[in-house]
Amino acid sequence: MSYTEEVYERVVAQNPGEPEFHQAVKEVLDSLKVVIDKNEEEYRRLSILERLVEPERIISFRVPWVDDHGKVQVNKGYRIQFNSAIGPYKGGLRFHPSVNQSILKFLGFEQIFKNSLTGLPIGGGKGGSNFDPKGKSDREVMAFCQSFMTELCKYIGADTDVPAGDIGVGGREIGYLFGQYKRIRGLYEGVLTGKGLTYGGSLVRTQATGYGVVYMLNEIMQAHGDSPEGKTAVVTGSGNVAIYAVEKFTQLGGKVVAMCDSAGYIYDPDGIKLDIVKDIKEVKRGRISEYADRVEGSVYTPGTGIWNIKCDVYLPCATQNELDLEGAKILVSNGCKYLVEGANMPTTLDATNYIMDSGVYFMPGKAANAGGVATSALEMSQNSMRLSWSAEEVDEKLHNIMKDIFRKVDDASKRYGMTDNYVVGANIAGFEKVVDAMKAQGIV
Ligand code: NDP
Repeated sequence: MSYTEEVYERVVAQNPGEPEFHQAVKEVLDSLKVVIDKNEEEYRRLSILERLVEPERIISFRVPWVDDHGKVQVNKGYRIQFNSAIGPYKGGLRFHPSVNQSILKFLGFEQIFKNSLTGLPIGGGKGGSNFDPKGKSDREVMAFCQSFMTELCKYIGADTDVPAGDIGVGGREIGYLFGQYKRIRGLYEGVLTGKGLTYGGSLVRTQATGYGVVYMLNEIMQAHGDSPEGKTAVVTGSGNVAIYAVEKFTQLGGKVVAMCDSAGYIYDPDGIKLDIVKDIKEVKRGRISEYADRVEGSVYTPGTGIWNIKCDVYLPCATQNELDLEGAKILVSNGCKYLVEGANMPTTLDATNYIMDSGVYFMPGKAANAGGVATSALEMSQNSMRLSWSAEEVDEKLHNIMKDIFRKVDDASKRYGMTDNYVVGANIAGFEKVVDAMKAQGIV
């Protein structure tokens, strides 16, 4: 059995009941086989892979808070500090009822390679809670965030671990979390990113992940003599990443015809009116179904099945494993040519393989959505330097980072004789830097 297979089996045996974590590890280890095979003895001797798949630290804690009826509620809180070889832990906080250790470990593991690809000095981490902000009052969200941070603040800091937002954690939540950190620790420092502009946030951070996804798409298209101009896209989700992916794709001359939330999807053949989606989602915190009530000619369909809509470009920007093999087959048969993952691991492994085997250009989330964390790292730099860059400066840096990630991924795929296999390219390029740093720092 090869070293990568052995380590995968060990991960499955030692981490029972964590299917998402197994899935993320499998994808990475399968990709790394070609690299490991070249120097297997040394990697085995140093137990590089065993160290890579084991988080440096998992913190889990109780989060008690009082709801609007005076009842005490209790949620689970976590921070996974996965790998600090190349910098302080960096990765978002997710508040969603589905959150558990497996999901956060998969996200934290992916984050190691993503952060490495950005070229910036940030290690991999992730955290969150099974708290559901949906339907809660602002006071309840604040009470929860304050309790969560009361515990988390013992383990984070501007030079140790810098969380950000993710699903269910946007500007409102980051504000409450930051306020509580400052109050307890007495430090006004860049301990969180995604902050509001009046208290240390960076321009373009809100847009960064979605814009970055489309900058990446543009690089892939250009490399194949194509462009977004005149193309149609389907973007799943209608949260932070989805909204700004739609905005940038439209700015580049494309048309987005469908978006969704977890209840259903909208189809607008004339192109999604983003101002209406923003009003529904960012202002009213409503459901995507309301779009069809407001826009003539658009249709709302409950349930999944958004992949049935014909498009040139598919940008899954909602959540993990949203696109399965059945959906992938329909996408391919409808002539989709590019799939760029805005969400983390939105495509199941068999769907990914099917899509790539069908000749669709496929870019994995760890490369395509790295613009968010990269801009978070730019926010950290601005906080340390006590200055703020203009929107143009940040956007230009983001654009250059996405170009650079594409170049690294493309180059790694070519070096190993797998041109256009961006999954292998991203995993190898991300791994190379982390493993060099791990080796240099000894057995830690
Ligand atoms: P948001 O909470 O802003 O939005 C998530 C969107 O996805 C919502 O529209 C939500 O609908 C929808 N959704 C959730 N679950 C499902 C489902 N099962 N089926 C269909 N739609 C669903 O999150 P973000 O936009 O921030 O994050 C989206 C993805 O991007 C995640 O995978 C995240 O990890 C990843 N990501 C985010 C980054 C960021 O900067 N925000 C950075 C890098 C990656 P509903 O409201 O009904 O739940």
